[in-house]
Amino acid sequence: MDDTIAAISTSQGVGAISIIRVSGEEAIEIVSKIFSNKNFHNASSHTIHYGYIMDGLEKVDEVLVTIMRAPKTFTKEDIVEINAHGSIVTTDKILELLLVNGCRLAEPGEFTKRAFLNGRIDLTEAEGIMDLINSKTDISRKIALNQVGGKVSDMIRNLRDELAGIIANIEVNIDYPEYEDIEEITIDKINSNLSELEKKIDKILTESKNGEVLTNGIKTAIIGKPNVGKSSLLNRLIGEEKAIVTDVKGTTRDSVEATLRIDNLILNLIDTAGIRDTNDLVESIGVDKSIKFINQADLILFVVNYNEKLSEEDKLILSKLRGKNYITVVNKCDLEKKIDDSNLENVIYVSALNDVNIDEIGKKIKEMFNLEKIETTDLTYLTSARSLSILRKVLDSVKNVRKGIEENYPIDMVEIDLKDIWNLLGEIIGESYDEELLDQLFSRFCVGK
Ligand code: GDP
Repeated sequence: MDDTIAAISTSQGVGAISIIRVSGEEAIEIVSKIFSNKNFHNASSHTIHYGYIMDGLEKVDEVLVTIMRAPKTFTKEDIVEINAHGSIVTTDKILELLLVNGCRLAEPGEFTKRAFLNGRIDLTEAEGIMDLINSKTDISRKIALNQVGGKVSDMIRNLRDELAGIIANIEVNIDYPEYEDIEEITIDKINSNLSELEKKIDKILTESKNGEVLTNGIKTAIIGKPNVGKSSLLNRLIGEEKAIVTDVKGTTRDSVEATLRIDNLILNLIDTAGIRDTNDLVESIGVDKSIKFINQADLILFVVNYNEKLSEEDKLILSKLRGKNYITVVNKCDLEKKIDDSNLENVIYVSALNDVNIDEIGKKIKEMFNLEKIETTDLTYLTSARSLSILRKVLDSVKNVRKGIEENYPIDMVEIDLKDIWNLLGEIIGESYDEELLDQLFSRFCVGK
């Protein structure tokens, strides 16, 4: 972390302004070498300076340069930000000059990684920054901002504090074993405190499902035999001609991925080929894929034709859908009714062709995922798969410890287990981590963040 890093922080393309960011011990010195304003070197922190970026005697761009001295910066290191004109050629040239003069090109997420390693933010806050950058809806933005602001960290720290209290109780117990009466009372108390903790963790995990769905979206498969109108429906939902709509049966073989936003819902759509019991090689790829998608998807839109009787294929699909989150979209309701819909569940009648009732699909999904009242809650959720899996482990471990207590495990063993759980909770906020995890996590960031 001794070297000084640089990267273009704004998106690569033409824009009014682009920002090139530099962080590290030599940030100010290196920028001074290529900046026309000779007073820059001695400037006070958090000031902005006008001048030119110079390549020797040649002017490269007219810029504003911000100087931020450690430690009150994002990385807790000296940071310099160059606001240049937003042209790819200009920003590339400035970056090149910085590299020639001693900077190293930053890896993806390296500024945020430094912020974490220097204790400016914890791991959940870092993940929040990534979610904030990637947020696609207003709600997911709010969830991410809460995470950046430390609300999730506070939630985890509170759990840790409670656990520390319980461990302290046990230590009293071990230190004063001669008081048998106290031991009994204490064991009861420990167990009931742990039961409270278990309930809290359980609640966080349950509620976090909302956060996960709202932040990452719902993996949605559109399933149905050929020609029922899956592509037409997808196009209606997306509002643009992205999937191929055709009259020829079985042409929608490749899955078209699209992200769809309905109010605050994100659907990660997969348009699948129709399910068929067939030996045809090409078609059977579709069948396999479709079954795979049904199993992988969090939500399935099962499309059938209002104008046709349910076929064997439809019945095959229905059998695969049992126990899943699905909506039966009865399409082509502008045509004559031929379907026997008496046994269908979760039905919405639509016409993709005429844009009838398509809105109902979003409403139904919100209902299914209990997301109707979500706007009014405080939106503090764990959203990363990493932290959720750790918290699930924590919950299992707490349950095991309680079982151990009921089976009269020696109290010092219980204490060791609880300390392990305390450490595990610490992993969520990054109190302990391994390099590989950090590399993996920050490599998902953009360069320059
Ligand atoms: P897919 O094979 O399931 O993807 O079906 P397509 O979306 O390609 O549609 C097959 C045919 O049905 C096309 O000719 C569409 O125009 C037509 N179609 C789709 N939706 C409707 C609808 O709501 N009403 C009517 N009458 N035709 C539709």
